[in-house]
Amino acid sequence: MSDVLPYGRQTIEDDDIAAVAAALRADFLTTGPTVDAFEQAFAGTVGAQHAVACINGTAALHLAMLALDVQPGEVCVVPSVTFLATANCVRYVGAEVVFADVDPESGLLTPVGVAEAIARAGSRKVRAVLPVHLRGDVADLPGLAAEAAKVGVVLVEDAPHAVGSTAVFGDTTEIVGDVRHSAMATFSFHPVKTLTTGEGGMVTTNDADLARRLRKLRSHGMERPEGAEPWWYEMVEPGFNYRLPDILCALGLSQLAKLPRFVARRQVLAARYAEALAPLAPAVRLAASPAWSRPALHLMTVLIDFKGLGRPRGAVMEALKARGVGSQVHYIPVHRQPYFKERYGALELPGAEAWYARCLSLPLYPSMADGDVDRVAEALREALGL
Ligand SMILES: *Cc1c(COP(=O)(O)O)cnc(C)c1O
Repeated sequence: MSDVLPYGRQTIEDDDIAAVAAALRADFLTTGPTVDAFEQAFAGTVGAQHAVACINGTAALHLAMLALDVQPGEVCVVPSVTFLATANCVRYVGAEVVFADVDPESGLLTPVGVAEAIARAGSRKVRAVLPVHLRGDVADLPGLAAEAAKVGVVLVEDAPHAVGSTAVFGDTTEIVGDVRHSAMATFSFHPVKTLTTGEGGMVTTNDADLARRLRKLRSHGMERPEGAEPWWYEMVEPGFNYRLPDILCALGLSQLAKLPRFVARRQVLAARYAEALAPLAPAVRLAASPAWSRPALHLMTVLIDFKGLGRPRGAVMEALKARGVGSQVHYIPVHRQPYFKERYGALELPGAEAWYARCLSLPLYPSMADGDVDRVAEALREALGL
């Protein structure tokens, strides 16, 4: 491992490696029983009726758009502060993105942001709203669902940051992925995420028809009608090869069993960060966590007044790196990307801009030592000249 603490890193242990080795010796390397086992275990963990595994989180989003039958000419609402894939999936099916503004303190999509974006959609047909649980903090799902319902549309949660996150709405503790307020939730198992399969993704839903459609589209659009001849399959719409191999599902199963431990460790580290960074306030503040949110915390994002301090973010990141501390910006608002700027023109989303101007993600992953947190906080103090 390098001397620089990365902002995120996988945790692979000996039993994960043993699980993959066993999968390599099994009869099925792909499309075998470990896929079902991983899907069932994941569905059970997040409290959803169905989980459909696929090759990555971007494929999960694409499958969700296809399963909803989102069409060219229609639009989906996407928060501007997210990874590119949340917006790109809308374009994959020929629909257009309406970027919504976010809360500048949490980076999360809000009901007001959704209402404003829907108003901007004008006469175009809105098909879905895609909230992102940025950093693992849970967006206001009941509020967002209510806003979406006003125009008869569903939520599709883009939840790669929030595996293991829960939220308390009213008297109910909900788990991200249980899809109480949404049609589907998508996950990613990229190495920087809380669980990893190298590459991997999942869609959860409580709708049996959507689950069937997702499964069909993940494998070429092929279906085997019940009672048909043993060789028979039919395709009524072209799908993709988005399958997740048994080898990776074996890693996923092994990782999933560790989720409570990973989440607990992230929360311990986050609490230590809160203490260690407190003396740097108000120049450095933690990103705001909504009252209902119990985040598993994928990212340790702080908000820094770079302007007020007269320290450009790039220089601060370099100074951190020189002290062995990696950092990252989550995210450049997607509406600023050349492709979308050219397609939709310049947009004014002040919440997204304010978030972007100040955000910086510091190292957070289960194998970090407690002392690493103190080291990061000290490096940040020095880098900011505080
Ligand atoms: C990681 C991520 C994705 C994409 O997942 P991949 O597995 O890398 O394709 C999509 N949306 C968000 C918010 C992500 O963090």
